[in-house]
Amino acid sequence: MRDSARVIAALDWSMTQIHNFGAGPTGLPLAVRERLADALQVPFDHAPSLLEVSHRGARFLEVSTRLRAGLRTLLGLGDSHEILLMSGGAQLQFALLPMNLAASGTATYLESGHWSRTAVAQARPVSRVEIVGSSAATGFTTLPAVGPVPSDAAYLHYCGNETIHGVQFSAPPTAESPVIADLSSEIFSRPYPFSELAVVYASAQKNLGIPGLTVVAMRRDLLERSPRSLPPILSYRAWAEAESMPNTPATAAWLATMEMVEWMLREGGLPAMAARNAAKAAAVYACLDRHDCFETPVAREARSSMNVVFRLVDRAEEPEFLKAANAAGLLGLEGHRAVGGMRVSLYNAIEMSSVEALVAFLDAYAQRG
Ligand code: PMP
Repeated sequence: MRDSARVIAALDWSMTQIHNFGAGPTGLPLAVRERLADALQVPFDHAPSLLEVSHRGARFLEVSTRLRAGLRTLLGLGDSHEILLMSGGAQLQFALLPMNLAASGTATYLESGHWSRTAVAQARPVSRVEIVGSSAATGFTTLPAVGPVPSDAAYLHYCGNETIHGVQFSAPPTAESPVIADLSSEIFSRPYPFSELAVVYASAQKNLGIPGLTVVAMRRDLLERSPRSLPPILSYRAWAEAESMPNTPATAAWLATMEMVEWMLREGGLPAMAARNAAKAAAVYACLDRHDCFETPVAREARSSMNVVFRLVDRAEEPEFLKAANAAGLLGLEGHRAVGGMRVSLYNAIEMSSVEALVAFLDAYAQRG
């Protein structure tokens, strides 16, 4: 065994609790897990559970109504925006947005990391595309500014929080054209000026529940842009007309998101989420900053409160570090395969007690002698 591996292995970790820092799919609040488990209980009369009945029946339509009501409350949006509950993940939106909204005009993008770059790649086959600001030159450790935008810009797309690179916009960029935000890894982590945005979308498997549902809030006037030539299943207008049920929805994901949204509201809504998330991120960054053995590549002003990325100065020690973290019950700390290193995801479901366990582990690692 390498010396460093021996040292880490010697740290005395009693595995008392599991802490899930995965980037998504990831942990749900215990209260949500319990409610989902209850929803599947077999009652004495063997009546079907919510996941075994038609999505068009009264029982599931109540889920839909409660889900929409909760989303509207958290988004703080009145009637200006349509809420679409879609399938196919955020990546399908990468393609649908240019197909529907940039049939004429140029789709413009801020490139701030892996996900905004992927959004550009999905748009290129179907639209004229221009990147109007990029932080590629810094390896996506800073945030791009908006440069000159073409006069026929159909929209400006940005990714609010880059889940892999760990950079986050503190506020939406401003532009004359409609602004579209991929908030997949930060939605509802803090109050946000949703009403300033033309489109906000997020896949559910981070702050909103489990995979299968993508929430899209779209300004109603934009629905008119969907070309009539599009197959209806790819058309936002058709999804709105079908009240988000042109086909069978991912009922389990809708139910999980309903529970997540109602949990957030019970916990005090977005101000409460923001206070907790700020405290969690501050504790993790402070720990990483006070020890020389850790490196945080992201510029301070661009640091994400949701996905904290870091490296060990001694890169060779990272595999053993991750193994020891796992053994200590700290799961999901591997960085994305595209960048390596480590990543701590601090979504709404993560408790401060989990952060304290992580910080204790990091402190002990740093002081291992
Ligand atoms: N955007 C962001 C910011 C993401 O983090 C992810 C996935 N982690 C995606 C888009 C793609 O999401 P999906 O897998 O739901 O297509």
